[in-house]
Amino acid sequence: MNLWERIKFSLSRFMYGRYGADQFSRAIVTASLILLVLTYALGIPLFWYLSFAGYIYAIFRMFSRNIDKRSQENQAFLNKTAHLRTEYSQFKVRWRNRKQYKYFKCPQCRTRMRLTRGVGEKQITCRNCQHTFKQKA
Ligand SMILES: [Zn+2]
Repeated sequence: MNLWERIKFSLSRFMYGRYGADQFSRAIVTASLILLVLTYALGIPLFWYLSFAGYIYAIFRMFSRNIDKRSQENQAFLNKTAHLRTEYSQFKVRWRNRKQYKYFKCPQCRTRMRLTRGVGEKQITCRNCQHTFKQKA
């Protein structure tokens, strides 16, 4: 075994039975990085301490052997951010297709809809609240 293989082997033995990285840990690391940038951008020392605490907590979670507890925390994080993550992924789709479709909301119930661009003015009936209105695309 060469040195690199020995390092890989001892690292995998060290990580065996430990939780590792998940979405919650990655979010903590990202938030800590943003706080670190803000520390120097705004000159607020408190942000440095918060950033440092975030890294420590993320490392603690990765090396934790209490896998049940860590996955519960991750699930709680995912549940709390579900709406935000859905909004973001839908925004990416709308942005990708912005030249093909015109996106708009029902003026009454705010349901999102789309029309193929270039169809002209159309009479729209909302499938959610049956409100009818005209929309150009
Ligand atoms: Zn509607």
